[in-house]
Amino acid sequence: MRNVNNDCLFCRIVTGDIPATVVRETERTLAFRDINPQAPVHVLVIPKEHYSDVVTLAEGDPGLAAEVLTTAAVVAETEGLLTGGFRTIFNTGGYGGQEVFHVHAHLLGGTPLGPMVA
Ligand code: IMP
Repeated sequence: MRNVNNDCLFCRIVTGDIPATVVRETERTLAFRDINPQAPVHVLVIPKEHYSDVVTLAEGDPGLAAEVLTTAAVVAETEGLLTGGFRTIFNTGGYGGQEVFHVHAHLLGGTPLGPMVA
């Protein structure tokens, strides 16, 4: 596999070195439950390859970026979020509050989430 960073937490989830509750896996993406959920459903969707953030992913492999979104949409359906709605967030960089520098989409739902706040 290209672009693996052994120092990266989410790369180590992909390899199975660190356990995770996986809800969906495709050839190039993985979806697993956030360890500190901020909503009744809080799933992280990642590409298996290491890209630090959504900008490098979109520039480096736009098709893979689309696969991440497709996996998020399928998980939204399997988690029963399509009726009530849900939120998808890519935190990016320091001001964006990104703490893990392996791009991930947060998929949040299962309750009214309220307005976005800074
Ligand atoms: P960020 O702030 O957008 O980078 O979000 C990182 C997310 O990763 C946070 O919501 C954390 O709770 C989550 N997280 C950190 N470590 C783990 C883990 O080992 N398994 C699942 N989620 C994790």
